[in-house]
Amino acid sequence: MARVELDGITRRFEQSVAIADITFEVPDGEFWVLVGPSGCGKSTILRTIAGLESATSGNLYIGDRLVNQVPARQRDVAMVFQNYALYPHMTVAENIAFGLKMRNADAKTQRERVETMARILDISHLLDRKPRQLSGGQQQRVALGRAIARQPQVFLLDEPLSNLDAQLRDGTRSELKQLHQQMGITTIYVTHDQVEAMTLADQIVILERGKIQQIGDPQSIYAQPANRMVATFLGNPPTNILPVTYRGEAFHIQGQRIPCPLTLRSLHDGQQFDLGIRPEQMRVSEDAHLITQVSLVEPLGREILVRVELLGERSQPTTLNVQVSPNVRLAPGDRLPLALDLNQLFLFDPMTGQRVH
Ligand code: ATP
Repeated sequence: MARVELDGITRRFEQSVAIADITFEVPDGEFWVLVGPSGCGKSTILRTIAGLESATSGNLYIGDRLVNQVPARQRDVAMVFQNYALYPHMTVAENIAFGLKMRNADAKTQRERVETMARILDISHLLDRKPRQLSGGQQQRVALGRAIARQPQVFLLDEPLSNLDAQLRDGTRSELKQLHQQMGITTIYVTHDQVEAMTLADQIVILERGKIQQIGDPQSIYAQPANRMVATFLGNPPTNILPVTYRGEAFHIQGQRIPCPLTLRSLHDGQQFDLGIRPEQMRVSEDAHLITQVSLVEPLGREILVRVELLGERSQPTTLNVQVSPNVRLAPGDRLPLALDLNQLFLFDPMTGQRVH
């Protein structure tokens, strides 16, 4: 096992910069997730660590070794892609043992390692089958087993679950987490799925347009997003953003008024903000800060997701997502008064998107 350190890694493709000045250090044995929208550069980072891509500038360390010039096969990393390719003519056992065989492990070591991997991944009963006799989820577990069997120093995963259906994806995700708990291999995992990021990561790296937006553990990023992008990317449904103007110790929008929490009373009249509030931090109450009208009701069993529009004069509608308890009866067109948890408001600079509170 080894730590992985990126120090100012930049990768240019002709005119465009795919990743810019990426710096972070994954300590030995931790599970880190790189997450962000399509094209943000997460695969480029992973491929650079694997040695499949070379950085235009910056330094990359695996353990204490500078590996900028070290070819992929000598980096002792294993990578699993979205399109896991198993060898079709080999059995599951042979597929898992392949990397060990290539490294001249003796037969006993190969057999023992295959058995251990199969037990951990719950595929012991499939060892004599060929890949085409397996379901997609089983094939993916074999691919994971094959990658980990040779016990690499670093395990790299690029959207490994995205070809699985929802149920298999949830199951395999839990298995991956367990696998990491048992083996403790330093793992870097790429996804665009914020649920995977939240549930798997020791630390999350959020990226947008080739730049790091924030690094932190899932709970603290969720509670303390650095900017508007992070606030709206993590959380489903996303954080609501309301363009407001501060005046007379309140935030104003469309003739409605949200009182400003005491701790913020250093603001100037006329200042504009993007105010962020999470869907679960509003409740239905006659003691309301905002009066809205229901436009869509989506019952989810444990709660109801309601889309509402803010009432009042406006140039274009302001839409919010609200999570309400399942015993509230609602229909489109209903008036819905909402009270906001004023201690949970985020304030963003509307120009830069940076969080100011
Ligand atoms: P996705 O989730 O869609 O796979 P990603 O976050 O993994 O996206 P990358 O594949 O790392 O993003 O790409 C980052 C940026 O670099 C994109 O703008 C992409 O178009 C560009 N890029 C990646 N590879 C190349 C290449 N070989 N040549 C030119 N541009 C590239």
